[in-house]
Amino acid sequence: MALVVTKFGGTSVGSTERIMAVARRLVARKEAGDRVVAVVSAMGDVTDELVSMAREISEAPPEREMDMLLATGEQVTIALLAMAIEALGHEAISFTGPQVGIVTDSGHTKAKILEVRADRRVRSALDEGRIVIVAGFQGVTEDGHITTLGRGGSDTTAVAVAAGIGADLCEIYTDVDGVYTADPRVVPSARKIDAVSYDEMLELAATGARVLQLRSVEFARNHGVVIHCRSSFNDREGTIVREADETMEQAIISGVSHDTSEAKVTIRDVPDRPGVAASVFGMLADANVNVDMIIQNVSESGTTDISFTTPVEDLVRARRATAEVVAELGARSWNVDESVAKVSLVGAGMKTHPGVAAQMFRALADAGVNLDMISTSSIRISCVIAAEDVERAVRALHSSFGLDSDEIHAEVSPACGEGA
Ligand code: ADP
Ligand code: ASP
Ligand code: MG
Repeated sequence: MALVVTKFGGTSVGSTERIMAVARRLVARKEAGDRVVAVVSAMGDVTDELVSMAREISEAPPEREMDMLLATGEQVTIALLAMAIEALGHEAISFTGPQVGIVTDSGHTKAKILEVRADRRVRSALDEGRIVIVAGFQGVTEDGHITTLGRGGSDTTAVAVAAGIGADLCEIYTDVDGVYTADPRVVPSARKIDAVSYDEMLELAATGARVLQLRSVEFARNHGVVIHCRSSFNDREGTIVREADETMEQAIISGVSHDTSEAKVTIRDVPDRPGVAASVFGMLADANVNVDMIIQNVSESGTTDISFTTPVEDLVRARRATAEVVAELGARSWNVDESVAKVSLVGAGMKTHPGVAAQMFRALADAGVNLDMISTSSIRISCVIAAEDVERAVRALHSSFGLDSDEIHAEVSPACGEGA
């Protein structure tokens, strides 16, 4: 008898029929003898719709209230799923994040989990023979304010609950068969990866492979939770995410990821003296703006240009902070370019194989893609390029590094394929 945490994403619970299908899957699991906890997301595009409603009211809604709003999406799904299980003649109970003690810091809209006190409440419900349903994406601060964990955060709830109750397995059910060598919606010849290390998955998730939220992978690595990422629309084996060992196939390149959710800010003619970068990025940090890539040009006549990329969702705050810092430092001007994208190549093998960067830049050049910024880690190379070039860039890299499979999967989306 295994203790399993399963997580179902938005598409997988996108309609009442699909919620019934999830309920049937959970009941079958329980009948097979497992103790089952299910973490669920908001239905379909509900979170996006809530975000747009808030934006119709205000350009920069108070973040506490944003969380109060966004947390409602998941609460609808947990109640409907519990009802669906009861309708099948089995016992279930739904809990919100706060009810199972998902305690977070106060970083509204992207709060970090500090502690999971799920153990007692979840275990006693399981002992009573119930299927336990938990709302993903939400938590509560020590002083009782509702928080959310950043977009895609239900993955992190699932891993955190799995760690908190000592589950044997954490299964993340989604709308594709697992983690692929590139987003299968962009590269139809992408291949499913059978097993990937935490480190590579961290880089893929951090650079746009949104199939698993970055924080969920960090949490899994820190707590030794093995993730099985798989489809909720079939029974095929998905992708195992775990610690690397000698049995794991060691590809030079594991995958190509891309991200169109960042913008580039450039500040021109900043005085070139010690402390300037500290002021710029200090003010951005104080404004709760995440900064990804940074580039500073060679200084000419005592001034320099600084560019950085930031998530579009942080842009209102980034604009305010940049305007302030420009005035304070007496820089000449600043501008924002939202039509940028980032393409990244990830693979543990690049540590020991020279020439990967050269091959990457050559493939992009041959595809006519201009490079704007470059950054690297020991197992990743990322380039900022024009947004309009991004799909071409991903496909060019995918084939240049021999990742294309012979099999073209035409149906990646249940919306146009199998359905629940
Ligand atoms: P869920 O709602 O189940 O959490 P998401 O939409 O957050 O699902 O994540 C699944 C999506 O991630 C897929 O539909 C796919 O388009 C996208 N994706 C991006 N990169 C990858 C990748 N490397 N492998 C698999 N899916 C990817
Ligand atoms: N519903 C939230 C989102 O859309 C959380 C999640 O789906 O993981 O971001
Ligand atoms: Mg997701």
